[in-house]
Amino acid sequence: MPEHNDCIFCKIINGEIPSAKVYEDNEVYAFLDISQVTKGHTLVVPKQHTKNIYEADDKLAESLFARIPKIANAIKKTYQPAGMNILNNNEEPAGQSVFHLHIHLLPRYGEQDGFQ
Ligand code: 5GP
Ligand code: ZN
Repeated sequence: MPEHNDCIFCKIINGEIPSAKVYEDNEVYAFLDISQVTKGHTLVVPKQHTKNIYEADDKLAESLFARIPKIANAIKKTYQPAGMNILNNNEEPAGQSVFHLHIHLLPRYGEQDGFQ
């Protein structure tokens, strides 16, 4: 999969930057977020470089979102959270800091998980 300029997530997908893999197939890569907001905080990314949701075509969106339930269940099984938030930030004012489309899977453990 060709790397896009200096994109940090393309480097992670290509293995140039190490990551803790949660799931991988031909289309999608999932790995633990480096700053774990809660235990098991995971990012799911398309292998094809895509800036954010505005650049996702139907095929890419279908392959990315189709994997989310399976990956969410794998995280649920491993970490046994009480719940889970699924989030996606697009453009800087909305909190996007890495400009390679990614979905946050955020396990929730109840009042003590430190995240509001
Ligand atoms: P955003 O703010 O764009 O929605 O989310 C980007 C996420 O990428 C952040 O939660 C940040 O912690 C994570 N992140 C940034 N650089 C790295 C990295 O090198 N490795 C991993 N595993 N996560 C990263
Ligand atoms: Zn990229």
